[in-house]
Amino acid sequence: MKYQVEASELSYLTSIMRIGDSKMPVVLKIQSKVLKTMTDILLGKGFQWILPVILAKSTDPLWPDPGYSIEDRIEVEVYGTRVKTMQSMIVHKRVLVSLGPEKIFILSPNIRIESRKRMITGKHLYEFTQLDLEVAYAKMKDIFTLFEELIVKSIEVIKKEMREELELLSRDLRIPTAPFRVYKRAELEKEYGDSWEEEISRTSKDPVWVTDIPRQFYDFQDFETGEWRNYDLILPEGYGEVLSGAEREYEYEKILKKIERDGLRKDDYRLILDLAEKKLLKPSAGAGIGVERFIQYICGLKHIGEVQPFPRIPGIVPDL
Ligand code: AMP
Ligand code: MG
Repeated sequence: MKYQVEASELSYLTSIMRIGDSKMPVVLKIQSKVLKTMTDILLGKGFQWILPVILAKSTDPLWPDPGYSIEDRIEVEVYGTRVKTMQSMIVHKRVLVSLGPEKIFILSPNIRIESRKRMITGKHLYEFTQLDLEVAYAKMKDIFTLFEELIVKSIEVIKKEMREELELLSRDLRIPTAPFRVYKRAELEKEYGDSWEEEISRTSKDPVWVTDIPRQFYDFQDFETGEWRNYDLILPEGYGEVLSGAEREYEYEKILKKIERDGLRKDDYRLILDLAEKKLLKPSAGAGIGVERFIQYICGLKHIGEVQPFPRIPGIVPDL
């Protein structure tokens, strides 16, 4: 199916892809500073910096997730074996923190062939990077505190050391106050209906946590209450979701039941199931923050493609 965009939208989208755009060096300078700030904090807390995996037999199914909109999945054969391109390293993170080290992070490139209808959301790319972390035995609250520190410190550093750059971008950036407010998805749904994410993003001054969102099998769900111990972080000013994470399932029977419930192939998750069956899969919690979305917010940019020197906007395949 061909998705139609207005000519003016298309010319805007192609204009932001011009390398040599005067904003690009400033955006990249800010991105470098944010990445340095965040990775320094994590290294200082004893995290190990893991390098990413791109091709694997097992990756994030991304399903079921309320935000799911994948138009294609890439599978290739290497050495006679079918592998997928990485949609997220959740399976790898779970296995690694179980076997050690127990605190890890990765700047993980994710390839997700998002529907071309997402060309003009301003929030979607088909290649992006998550700062993805996982901590054995951690709980939701630990991850909230950790990301609040990463986010507040990054913004403080940018405001303090990059005043001229923010001015050049005409960006009036607010330092958020931690701890951020926590909402339950159901209460927001009750108040705002299906568009709760946009509404809470538009009306909040600071980022907010939203918990208890039904989605992929690996997020922890209390089978007695039905409650999910997972969370999204929603940025203000309409920028929307920037992070998703959870406490994780670690019991064999529950994982198996949920994989079957979601209609997934057990074989794709054999290693994690084997570890769980042997009681070697440690409980953990973690999250991944979308680097480009966070930088887009810091820089106050209209389209996320403006963060990438080689934009990966759904539906558009550039020369580089
Ligand atoms: P997920 O676990 O799928 O929610 O992905 C984690 C984070 O990655 C999200 O909260 C976003 O910040 C970012 N992200 C997910 N999909 C995309 C996309 N298509 N383009 C840009 N960033 C994305
Ligand atoms: Mg998400």
